Amino acid sequence: MEMDKEYERKCYELAYLIFPDVDETVDDLEVKYPERNELKVGAIVTRIAPSPTGFMHTGSLYQAMVHKKLATQTDGVYFLRVEDTDQKREVAGSIKMYTDELKYFDLLATEGVLGEDKQVGSYGPYIQSQRKDIYRVCAKHLIEKGLAYPCFCTPEMIDKTRQMQEANKIVPGYYGVYAKCRNISIDESIERVKNGEKFIIRFRSNGSHLRKISFVDGARGKIEMAENDQDVVIIKSDGLPTYHFAHVCDDHFMRTTHVVRGEEWLPSTPIHLDLFNAMGFTPPVYVHTPLIMIKDGNSKRKLSKRKDKESAVSFFIKAGYPAEGVCEYLMTILNSDYEMWKSKNKEKNYMDFEFKLNKMSSAGSLLDMPKLNDLCKEEVAKMSGKEVLDKVLVWSKQYSQDFYDILNKDLEYSQKVFGLERDNATKIRKDIYKWEDVEETFKYFFDEIYNKELEEKGYIIDSILEEKPTITKEVIKKSLEEYIKAYNENDNKDEWFARMKEVAQSLGFCTNMKEYKANPENYIGSIADFSSIVRMAITNRKNTPDIYSIMQLLGKDKVINRLNTTLSKV
Ligand code: GLU
Repeated sequence: MEMDKEYERKCYELAYLIFPDVDETVDDLEVKYPERNELKVGAIVTRIAPSPTGFMHTGSLYQAMVHKKLATQTDGVYFLRVEDTDQKREVAGSIKMYTDELKYFDLLATEGVLGEDKQVGSYGPYIQSQRKDIYRVCAKHLIEKGLAYPCFCTPEMIDKTRQMQEANKIVPGYYGVYAKCRNISIDESIERVKNGEKFIIRFRSNGSHLRKISFVDGARGKIEMAENDQDVVIIKSDGLPTYHFAHVCDDHFMRTTHVVRGEEWLPSTPIHLDLFNAMGFTPPVYVHTPLIMIKDGNSKRKLSKRKDKESAVSFFIKAGYPAEGVCEYLMTILNSDYEMWKSKNKEKNYMDFEFKLNKMSSAGSLLDMPKLNDLCKEEVAKMSGKEVLDKVLVWSKQYSQDFYDILNKDLEYSQKVFGLERDNATKIRKDIYKWEDVEETFKYFFDEIYNKELEEKGYIIDSILEEKPTITKEVIKKSLEEYIKAYNENDNKDEWFARMKEVAQSLGFCTNMKEYKANPENYIGSIADFSSIVRMAITNRKNTPDIYSIMQLLGKDKVINRLNTTLSKV
């Protein structure tokens, strides 16, 4: 007993020696960052905790969906904390990039770091490098309790121990008898700190890897693992905490209820539970999200930052994927029952769906790009011409300034272009799924870029010659000449079509498709072939929306001009 008291006194002495300027206590912090009692029972407090490494992984976007859904569904809180304790990996501008990217998908948090210089909420600061004081209070607390100690081992010494352990097939790490500085006397620790020897701070674990612990993962259910026995580093030589320690202090004092994070953290969960326990804090519910996989030949593999462009959220933004489509897709891989729900609730979107943690798969989720593209197509198909124009303007302003300028020359015209087979249409044309393709798809509406295409790629009208031997150069020429003569810009659609047929028939095309199919040898081609000639002459495309509407939009001068130019090139 006497001995214990003496030991305790020395622990306090050691703690004071290491942190002489720390006056606050853990109890003070409990008062400063109280429980979020204003929230109703069951409200989930969740957070996204990016490290500012200049790269947002698609997996983080997927997690952001979970955060947002859990918080909004329960009237809880979703906040963003920046985890910048590994300063070697830090890349300038990351916070702005991260918050901008989340904003693009409407997945920005409502508390914490919301922009480069913007922090909102009373549980801050929300950037770990600004929370040093808090970690120092907590580390001091552990030293006082004999649950942390200074470690004077050099990286070389640690390496040597590890090599010895590996050679002898011993569980590697700094623990038990292999934890040299754990086993020196407290007097020696005090002495060496007093002498100014360099040290880091380690946790003193009382666990054993021979025992098991179990915990309930929010998505995976009960999980059993070996107990932690590693004396992990809690404060590094630069005075900053490790992830293990920082997240424990932060998630406690930010009153997080659910830590939703990548599966790669699952193996270290016993360390985290050990630390929560040592601090006397109640641990949050851990939810480990599955890895995102990608098809590679016949097998699946983890989405790789090095190999797969789709692993970066920035890829989707730069290519101009509509946020709604990407989010819809992510929900289909997040919850197995989403698609069923969606098929019954076509008008609703993923924010109306009740997301369930237990419907999350624990096997990897496959990122199926063709399916994602299809869902994006569906989302674009729901937009009006004006909405498409607005989105394309925002995208092109950043990624294609020339196209942006062209669209801006006549916004009313641009809106009509995107409104074709969209506004007031009975059957919506589904031709776009990302904004970077819009310029190519709609080029022929804009002379500046259309003419450039003709110069660079040439005319495609000759391709008919290969497909239909009966349609010779002469036929094309004649068709264009006659059509130029007959064309009347004042025709309504029926009159226009009647005139097309008239010209076609006079040249030997069949205007009745049924008849043509029965006796193709009697004709040089069908009315569809004749239309193709006109379509290609005007747009240099084989497939376009309704050619009549296109001609109406382009206007007489352009139509005649294009017909004549193509004619001169045949
Ligand atoms: N900063 C950690 C990471 O980027 C966050 C893990 C967590 O959410 O706790 O992986």
